[in-house]
Amino acid sequence: MKSLLSTVVTSLLFWANPATACTGFAGLHDHFLPINGTLAVENQIPLNAAGYGVSDFGHGAYMITDGAYQTFVLVSTAGVVVVDAPPTTGHKLQWAIGNLTATPVRWFIYSHSHSDHAGGAYLFANQSHPKVTTISHENTASQLATARDPHRPVPKVTFKDKYTLVAGNQTLELFFPGIGHDLGNIIIYAPKQKVLMMVDQIYAGWVPFWNLAASIYVPGWIEAHDQLLGYDFDVYLGGHMGGPANRTAVKVQREYVHDLYDNCADALIKSGSPENPTVDIAAISKTVLTNNPYNIWAQFAVYLDAVADLCYNKTSDKWLGKLAAQDIFGFSHARTMVSSLRLDYDVLGPNDVQP
Ligand SMILES: [Zn+2]
Repeated sequence: MKSLLSTVVTSLLFWANPATACTGFAGLHDHFLPINGTLAVENQIPLNAAGYGVSDFGHGAYMITDGAYQTFVLVSTAGVVVVDAPPTTGHKLQWAIGNLTATPVRWFIYSHSHSDHAGGAYLFANQSHPKVTTISHENTASQLATARDPHRPVPKVTFKDKYTLVAGNQTLELFFPGIGHDLGNIIIYAPKQKVLMMVDQIYAGWVPFWNLAASIYVPGWIEAHDQLLGYDFDVYLGGHMGGPANRTAVKVQREYVHDLYDNCADALIKSGSPENPTVDIAAISKTVLTNNPYNIWAQFAVYLDAVADLCYNKTSDKWLGKLAAQDIFGFSHARTMVSSLRLDYDVLGPNDVQP
């Protein structure tokens, strides 16, 4: 039986932990904001009894999803082109393609190196009848050569800037926009169907995955939003969250990321003034160093998290309840943006060149 004390403690924890507060950790018993009412619900598609869903974009272009990950499939007169094979979708992907067409898979494209999207690549790359041509950006090939992962065989065909795959009656344009989410994350474009794909870039209706999509180079990842909008497309595939997205989803996330940039830059600048005591670096440093003499990392940790928290709260004023999971990953995005502003964009606030 639950003791009165544990009930009281649980209640206190609950009330001390509203969804808008920053805790740093997500626990089993946390209460998160529902995604109902956010833009995320517009992009859900039903899964069949086998556990996958299919969207048909016409002219042989399909998306297959397990509800969390996406694969792009293009059926041509010369064979099927597959982009990504998430391990969680696994063998379901082969069944799903087999149910769409009797044409064999002949090409496999890596959107980027990460195993959560490519860990099932061997299912296609190791196919012997017929042989499958594997394609990626040259940086992805280097990463996979280093990884020596039998689930992600090193691709045979690589490119530096762009590559056009002509497969029977179909065409796919591959383009490298620069380092961002990963070292070799590419844009995949089907011009006839107006389908555009860039994985781990846009999360339709949701805030991005943890730490700005765990991007290697944040400025490149931010810039990619504008590069995507330069294409003529109707359907967008980001590799995640079930259903397909569209041009509006790209514009909405671009706005979110730019708001985050502005709010974090503002918080960094405010931290140089005693008029803003919650982020004032002098006040924070004095208190932390008094309690923890000579502990420079403690001083920096408290200061940077205070700046990120101010940015997170300002961003939440506009986006909480609009994009799903701002309460879950929003603080991680503020932290990552504060770090990138300081290191990549030279927005150092009170730590800039001293007089
Ligand atoms: Zn990734």
